[in-house]
Amino acid sequence: MSDTDRYQQRQQKLKSQIDERIASAQHERGLVLVITGNGKGKSTSGFGTVARAVGHGQQAGVVQFIKGTWACGERNLLAQHGVQFAVMATGFTWDTQNKEHDRRAAQAVWQQGKAMLANPNLDVVLLDELTYMVSYDYIDLDEVIEVIEHRPIDMSVIITGRGAHRRLMALADTVSEVQSRKHAFDHGLKARQGIDW
Ligand code: ATP
Ligand code: MG
Repeated sequence: MSDTDRYQQRQQKLKSQIDERIASAQHERGLVLVITGNGKGKSTSGFGTVARAVGHGQQAGVVQFIKGTWACGERNLLAQHGVQFAVMATGFTWDTQNKEHDRRAAQAVWQQGKAMLANPNLDVVLLDELTYMVSYDYIDLDEVIEVIEHRPIDMSVIITGRGAHRRLMALADTVSEVQSRKHAFDHGLKARQGIDW
């Protein structure tokens, strides 16, 4: 048997295995996705999924924890396409150095997030940078889990941010960890509009 034949045989086998798995996937409900890790690409993945849903005519909401004071290309675009945004009205903790202020800001945006997570009209909700709110204890993890577990059955939820709590990963159906091999910032290159925000 030639190399090409062997390759084709392997591909055929792989394809039939994948087809089998697709055929045996019986459940259909909204999913919980966690995109974590230290590499670049977590929020862009979350927003990409929102864009994908919107492209199919679905309804989406986005909660932005932390980055409220930053410009955001995705927000400019998706807001024009009917995506609801709840934005935390504060900068980074290490800018404000005021934990109580940040906690109140986190709680305020979380209340809006909770309303989205209970809204049966929404197909997808992105909780961008939620992981930090849990790590800093600005938002109660038990409450986050309870609200997500009791969301409308067809709603999918995407959580992004570094260091996702193990209980968030346990709750999720899909967990991806973005690993950094190198980043432009490490060799002195400035963040760029359209690439980094
Ligand atoms: P992006 O929004 O580009 O998908 P992200 O959500 O994965 O990035 P965050 O931790 O939210 O990453 O950080 C956002 C900003 O920090 C972006 O400007 C991004 O380019 C930058 N960044 C992400 N990962 C790294 C890294 N490993 N080193 C330096 N800067 C990074
Ligand atoms: Mg991010």
